[in-house]
Amino acid sequence: MKVCNLSSGSDGNATYIEGTHAKILVDAGLSCKELERRLALLNVAPEEIDAILITHEHTDHIKGLDVFVGRYRPLLFVHKDGLNALRKKLKKPLVISTFDDAPFLIEDLKILPIAVPHDVDRCTGYVISENEKKISIFTDLGYTTDKMLQNLHNSNLVFLEANHDPEKLKANPKYPHHLKKRILGDNGHLSNLACANAIINLAQNGCKQFVLSHLSTENNSPDFAYDFITSILCDNGIVEGKHIRIDIASTVPKTVFWI
Ligand SMILES: [Zn+2]
Ligand SMILES: [Zn+2]
Repeated sequence: MKVCNLSSGSDGNATYIEGTHAKILVDAGLSCKELERRLALLNVAPEEIDAILITHEHTDHIKGLDVFVGRYRPLLFVHKDGLNALRKKLKKPLVISTFDDAPFLIEDLKILPIAVPHDVDRCTGYVISENEKKISIFTDLGYTTDKMLQNLHNSNLVFLEANHDPEKLKANPKYPHHLKKRILGDNGHLSNLACANAIINLAQNGCKQFVLSHLSTENNSPDFAYDFITSILCDNGIVEGKHIRIDIASTVPKTVFWI
């Protein structure tokens, strides 16, 4: 599989995944024009996208969805419990396919949807596999669940939210109290510490490559998240660069993974 994060964070989220026969996106949180431009960097024409999987309806995950789907007609998938909320956010009446909690196929890609706690009716993380290769994409979650972690075990590549440092967030004068409460709550976003603890679990269960994702530009930074998380891993006997590798997703496409 070929995988590239096209953008990550509150400015927009989209990840490109290419299997033997399928080319898909997880989320479309960039304008259609930006999606077209960033896919072109990977030599992918927008018409080639077979399907888009939506995690949830927040704007940073669906910004370009109306226009992109209207123009290029990929299949569009969302969990059945997130359908109404997604429909309300769309300006066009798109054809939407729904799934429940059972795995399903897009060509040869097996898609396993897993619910994660976030402040929407339904937020979905995805485990996507083909021929024993497995990638996992989990952002926008207040905390990690046991079911989620178990299903991520032995992933070849894990995109995992490292949204914020709670102390930076609490001290940020630009954030009103209710927003801080939301982000820090069980239905908010994953902190650097919670991300580090999840990586410890996953590293002990066959995962070697991680991409820190959905970093807050206000309450985190790539260097801070990397230093904080790798030091906690180190305290637990896990050395970045030796036992595991950590990359950091950005607002622009950076790394293409071949797994
Ligand atoms: Zn988001
Ligand atoms: Zn969200």
